[in-house]
Amino acid sequence: MTDRPVPLDPPVLLGAAVPLDPAVAPPGTRDFRDAGGLPASGWRADQAEQTLVPTHCCFCGVQCGMYLRVNAAGKVFGVEPRNHDINRMRLCPKGINAYQQVNHPDRLTAPLLRRSREEPFREVGWEEALTYTVEEVRRIQREHGVDAFGLLGGASLFSEKTYLVGKFARVALKTRHVDYNGRLCMVSAAGANKLAFGIDRAANPFSDILRTDCLLIAGSNVGECFPVMTQYVWGARDRGAKLIVVDPRETAVARTADVHVALKSGTDSAFFNAVLHVIVQDGLTDEAFLAAHATGWPELKAKVAEYPPERSAAICGVPAEQIVQVARLFGTAGRAMAWHARGIEHHTQGVENCLSVINLCAATGNLGRPGAGYGTITGQGNGQGGREHGQKSDLLPGGRSINDPEHRRQIAGIWGIEETELPQAGTSMMEMVWQMQRREIRGLIGICNNPFVSLPNYAVVKDGYDKLEFHAQFDFFLSETSANAHVVFPVTTWAEDEGVMANAEARVVKHNKAQEPPSGVRTDTWVMCELARRLGVGDKFDFAGSREVFDELRRASAGTVIDYYGITYERLEETGGIAWPCPDTAHPGTPRLFEDGRTYHPDGKVHLQVVEWHPPADPYDDEYPMTLTTGRTVAHFLSGNQTRRLGALVEQTPRPWVEVHPSHGFRNGEAVRVVTRRGASVLPALVTEAIRADHVFVPYHWPHPVAANALTNDALDPRSKIPEYKVCAVRIERAEQLDPVPAPPMPPGREAYPEAQHSRSDPLPPTAPQGRGTAERG
Ligand code: SF4
Repeated sequence: MTDRPVPLDPPVLLGAAVPLDPAVAPPGTRDFRDAGGLPASGWRADQAEQTLVPTHCCFCGVQCGMYLRVNAAGKVFGVEPRNHDINRMRLCPKGINAYQQVNHPDRLTAPLLRRSREEPFREVGWEEALTYTVEEVRRIQREHGVDAFGLLGGASLFSEKTYLVGKFARVALKTRHVDYNGRLCMVSAAGANKLAFGIDRAANPFSDILRTDCLLIAGSNVGECFPVMTQYVWGARDRGAKLIVVDPRETAVARTADVHVALKSGTDSAFFNAVLHVIVQDGLTDEAFLAAHATGWPELKAKVAEYPPERSAAICGVPAEQIVQVARLFGTAGRAMAWHARGIEHHTQGVENCLSVINLCAATGNLGRPGAGYGTITGQGNGQGGREHGQKSDLLPGGRSINDPEHRRQIAGIWGIEETELPQAGTSMMEMVWQMQRREIRGLIGICNNPFVSLPNYAVVKDGYDKLEFHAQFDFFLSETSANAHVVFPVTTWAEDEGVMANAEARVVKHNKAQEPPSGVRTDTWVMCELARRLGVGDKFDFAGSREVFDELRRASAGTVIDYYGITYERLEETGGIAWPCPDTAHPGTPRLFEDGRTYHPDGKVHLQVVEWHPPADPYDDEYPMTLTTGRTVAHFLSGNQTRRLGALVEQTPRPWVEVHPSHGFRNGEAVRVVTRRGASVLPALVTEAIRADHVFVPYHWPHPVAANALTNDALDPRSKIPEYKVCAVRIERAEQLDPVPAPPMPPGREAYPEAQHSRSDPLPPTAPQGRGTAERG
């Protein structure tokens, strides 16, 4: 056991600090001990050599607390739930299995190198891998300019590492081309939040969901993508809250809603404009709130007048009466909340969709109160923190703009460089791939991302990466993208280092190191610092570890909206997490925004934005008459590089499928060819009434040839530059043979997955449908 404090049961699910128990006991044991109970064999300590290290799950933006079990040899070998007030002992299938990554036999334990893609990888020493990488950086930048080399980070990294990604790109590589995979996730919500409120985060803590009278969830399969957040939804229902779910699919949470709006994908802003139209018409707006706290209301009111329910009903494919019903439920609630996720954000009008939800909350005065407000549900564990401190192409630490001369001066001063040395804004992740295709970017380092599975339009992505003259990836398993690189650096899992993440509430939580990394493995921090030293700027990267980086991050964020200055590792250990802004070490943090009636714009007002609906980018025609939408399943995480190797999760969901409505005449498990303008995959049918008859759904965690993202469209939102993953034109056909599911790539010298594992390709129906299967009803 560690001597770390264990939080006792908090009285309610609140974001505030919880009482601490100085005694050390695994959850649940203390009560038993205090009651005088003894196990039959006494307290025989055959587990005396074990320790429980309190930390958080590495996966989604809920950031559940957990203990990692560490044996006498110092190895992680299990997990225990933790009574943290985010999750109160609950973990989902991914969280329960996450520990299995740490000492997994597929771990990379030595750098891999090859000088051309025609050669096989060979394991090399760190010196050779680092030297070759630096030579290639220098060669490409000498021959083609500094911006010919790019860096792509990730939002599952600790915030310290995301800070270093931004600094490493601008100070060591001196390139403008840095971005990260959160560009595929949260940026539409971020853009909308900044426009409306001048701050980019959820306005309310999860615990406020328990206090609301009406909860609207838009475009979020909460039960599968953020499973433990579902406890708050059920808690709200138990207290009598009305639940409205807006989603083309009848997901688990939609199934129990008071109203499920199964609208056509890509029509969200038309729907929310019409809801606001009815709210205005019925006199349910909060005019006093709008007069005191908002700008742009007359313009917005005039625009939503153009969206009567009948017009939007025709666009959205839902009954006009349902729009009226939603408006009256939301508009008459004393306290209403809206939470949204990728379902409305992954669109060429993703920012507008989010703004149309914000407009609804603001027009009804639902902001800044317990149970009244809005939230954006982050995808990756550090989806929130990952975009705060400088790895996004247009941002510097503390959410500063790289285009603002004063912001540039501030950060240049902290980094010890001249403002003129700081590169200008770069481009977004997908745009960088297009630049690779055009050979404008010729060298790339990728950290904690797997674009071969996660980016849309795989054929374009593969072409772009194949044109790179040099490509290095940091990884702990060999991903599909890493397997295409020249150099792969073996780096730590989340359990082998310490650092912070910010969850969907903007609550910063501390992850603790549970074991030493395997021999041959280094932290991402060490690799970036070592590369920086060899590139001649070692004095700017003199960090022994995460703690020193965090102290610089705190200083770099001080005085900004995203102020971390008052957050220290010690305070995080004591409190279980602190929501930013937190400007000084006596500040309690800010779980709920706008309580004083002011936003973070200089005028303190909500800046309402006029939203006009427009159709998705991929047009429908006779050849492609239906809609393909994509998403996650509970057993897997994002590109699947971390979960497609964990036995229980693979057993639960071994392969992707295509969800189709019974009206198309397929049988469960039958081979269906799914064809878009960019590619085709043959997948087993999951026949269900839980999806619209004009839509099909494919989960996206697998690689080519069963990659949903071989089918999706790489059209971007013009403001957020998020790809339109959630809607494209498609047709479906009967097929003979299912496409095989490739086994995960393996490093050289390791045994590939045995033949038995190939049962993933068996033509069986999917095993984990969360939709409502109805095909066998006859
Ligand atoms: S809900 Fe998210 S954070 Fe919690 S255990 Fe599951 S994946 Fe991990």
